[in-house]
Amino acid sequence: MAIISRPLLLSVLLLGGTEVLGHRHGTSSVPLHGTLAGPSIAINSVPPTVRENWVRRANAALAEAGEPCMFAAFASAIVNHTASTAGELVCTGINSTRQKGDPTLHGEIAAIQNCTAILTDPTGPYNLTGSQALAAFADLTLYTNAESCPMCASAIRWAGFREYIYGTSIETLIEQGWGQIRIPSIDIVRESADLSNPVRLLGGVLSTETDPLFSWQFDSSAPCPQGCVRPAEGGSCVAPSL
Ligand SMILES: [Zn+2]
Repeated sequence: MAIISRPLLLSVLLLGGTEVLGHRHGTSSVPLHGTLAGPSIAINSVPPTVRENWVRRANAALAEAGEPCMFAAFASAIVNHTASTAGELVCTGINSTRQKGDPTLHGEIAAIQNCTAILTDPTGPYNLTGSQALAAFADLTLYTNAESCPMCASAIRWAGFREYIYGTSIETLIEQGWGQIRIPSIDIVRESADLSNPVRLLGGVLSTETDPLFSWQFDSSAPCPQGCVRPAEGGSCVAPSL
């Protein structure tokens, strides 16, 4: 005891006091950074099977566009769950950067643009003004088969979606060889708390079906996604020729 100096003894006591205070207020030592609700949880009363079907619907947009075995197989679906738990599709979008020559046309951006066109179409089912269309995003859910890059996650926040649901994580994309800007969506959500509309974030939904869409591009030994084949060893997965 005699060898512990007074300032050190004071530090030990303060540390002990902090720990006690923490327990009293119920603080946990588990870090919350990066924690997401599990994909099997019913967020906003929407059952997980319904979530999975909408991620599946986003995947289906690839085949609808004639690109079932697309290299950059990033696809989104934008859905209205406010009228019914089952949800109503408003629009889809797939990565169109190469087709359009626009580096910002990731699947989410393409979907947002498609929805805006549909919502404001004077001959369409919604016929909204620009202001009304902007406000409508607060009622919508964006489903994407892979976690959004920071550009798209920011666009999701600027749009004010009420929910943002993804399949494959950025972490998995990086492990599979995809070049990514390494900022997870949960960081974008946390850092955008000043924006007016809150968003619920749910990840890893149907990842058993979305992961295979992104695992073959940089690994020639990986199986092709369902319905796609590698005609040449080491080559790309493509739709089987008829
Ligand atoms: Zn993106």
